[in-house]
Amino acid sequence: MKNKLRQYAKELRNTLSIQDLSVKIKNNLFSMPEFKSSKNILAYYSMGSEVCTYDYFDDYSKNWFLPKIDGENLLVCPYNGCKLSQNRYKILEPENQNISDESIIDMVIIPAVCADKNGYRLGYGKGYYDRFIKRLTHKPLKVILVYSKLFFDNVYPDSFDEKCDFIVTDKEIYKV
Ligand code: ADP
Ligand code: MG
Repeated sequence: MKNKLRQYAKELRNTLSIQDLSVKIKNNLFSMPEFKSSKNILAYYSMGSEVCTYDYFDDYSKNWFLPKIDGENLLVCPYNGCKLSQNRYKILEPENQNISDESIIDMVIIPAVCADKNGYRLGYGKGYYDRFIKRLTHKPLKVILVYSKLFFDNVYPDSFDEKCDFIVTDKEIYKV
């Protein structure tokens, strides 16, 4: 079920005008009180049809961080325009060292192929964010960015899928 939905959602995503929708999603995210009060934010560097995040990092009022793959895990690396290089999934990640104290992260901004009203998401099917969220010893606010056309009632989560706190789309800021 999950894999069929993931495939369907990916195909649908490729038909959207992602630039325009991404601007709306950014405006919604940046208007949130929870975003405004967050200082240390782990975001992602978008690729392909993902909700575009390139210009988030121009906001110098925040300390930005990007994930870096380490085996099955995600490490948290500071990002302030430093050099990025492609990992094995062609995702750009910082070359600098990860931080050891992850508890400073206030908010985690998470990409998704699709998401649902219960706070669950489908990614690319590798489970990196599920393992990462589970590993964290503190509870940062977890925000999924997804196009409204890919915000469903149910994405058929598994027991290991981690629930998130907000879904931000081009149409709404949805609190789980
Ligand atoms: P995604 O979240 O990227 O859409 P899935 O939720 O389908 O992908 O997870 C992909 C794989 O990751 C699963 O087959 C599962 O075995 C593994 N996984 C997810 N969470 C955990 C976890 N907490 N511990 C170990 N493996 C996990
Ligand atoms: Mg999952």
